[in-house]
Amino acid sequence: MTLQTRIHASRHSPTVLIAGGAGFIGSHLCDALLQRGNNVICLDNLFTGTIDNVRPLLNHPNFRFVEHDVRDTIKVDDNIDRIYSLACPASPRHYQRDPVGTMKTCVLGTINILELARQKGARVLQASTSEVYGDPEVHPQPESYLGHVDPIGPRACYDEGKRAAETLMFDYHRMHQTEIKIARIFNTYGPRMLENDGRVVSNFIVQALRGEPITIYGAGTQTRSFCFVDDLVRGLQLLMESPCSVTGPCNLGNPHEVTIEAIAREVLRHTASISPLRFQALPKDDPRRRKPVIDTATKALGWRPRVALEDGLRATVAYFALRIAGDRPPLVPAIAPRRAGRRASQLRIADPRQ
Ligand code: NAD
Ligand code: UDP
Repeated sequence: MTLQTRIHASRHSPTVLIAGGAGFIGSHLCDALLQRGNNVICLDNLFTGTIDNVRPLLNHPNFRFVEHDVRDTIKVDDNIDRIYSLACPASPRHYQRDPVGTMKTCVLGTINILELARQKGARVLQASTSEVYGDPEVHPQPESYLGHVDPIGPRACYDEGKRAAETLMFDYHRMHQTEIKIARIFNTYGPRMLENDGRVVSNFIVQALRGEPITIYGAGTQTRSFCFVDDLVRGLQLLMESPCSVTGPCNLGNPHEVTIEAIAREVLRHTASISPLRFQALPKDDPRRRKPVIDTATKALGWRPRVALEDGLRATVAYFALRIAGDRPPLVPAIAPRRAGRRASQLRIADPRQ
């Protein structure tokens, strides 16, 4: 039995399926594509995503939410022109919660997405990651760098899973001529991250606003390069609509590199918080530095980030300040154990209008 997505698709507009569409990046992508007049099917199992992220879209005639796990076969009766494959927990805290499940999401999920793309003749974009470079020995990281990943460490379920997903994308491209795009996304932040997401920007902002200690792992000298979500979403769309010959992998990230301690101090400044810094143990395999080379994105897509860290942090602080001041219950993922043996025909299609 196929999923009756019942989208009121406009025949003249492309239909886009966003797997992981109720997550942080996915929900911003839903907004952007609907604004461009696309029909959007948002497919998500709500592992780290939340219906609140797409609630304002639920009555939009060209939007449909489908609760589904990409590890299960995906059958959709609508025509589909584009698939964004974003379904995967992205924060170390969450992808390490169920490491085997994360690996299955990356491998089985990508196969299911690619099979759907093959059946529908759809183009598919895979949200890959800077984690394919591991703890890099080359700095900054161009796409040609093959990486330095510990295959048996605690981050491997995600890093190796995402590497396998890239392999599958290129194998389908070679075997079935599937139109593919691979975006290697570097640390992205912004509104709609979960309060308990566990990643550094949301952690620091929530801690600062609550007056709790800012938890710096290690000495805080490790670096990351932070991209505001609006820039990333623009880059993903440009990559998706680029000529067929542009398959990627294509780094999408902001080359402005900062230390983790510097981020903590910036957050304290933006929140006028007096939270103390608390230094804690560095997690195993935590990459020491990370900065993208974005020449491919600049030349092939005309893309470069526009939002300065200062402005992105201000917007993100404003988002969390509203949530916390509003005393709303924290956005937490619906942590439901995956039911074994669930088949596509047994899936519940949530009716968002209820
Ligand atoms: P997120 O956790 O907010 O979003 C992931 C979404 O996928 C959630 O809505 C979650 O419920 C859903 N999901 C997870 N497993 C699923 C499954 N088996 N079936 C269906 N849905 C599932 O994370 P995000 O930051 O929005 O990341 C989105 C994508 O971008 C991920 O694939 C991630 O690996 C990639 N990425 C993100 C970053 C970043 O800094 N945010 C960096 C590199 C790559
Ligand atoms: N980090 C930290 N305190 C936190 C959360 C993260 O110091 O509360 C550090 C983490 O050890 C890493 C960096 O911030 O060095 C980025 O971590 P995040 O989980 O955001 O992303 P990733 O490690 O996947 O790049």
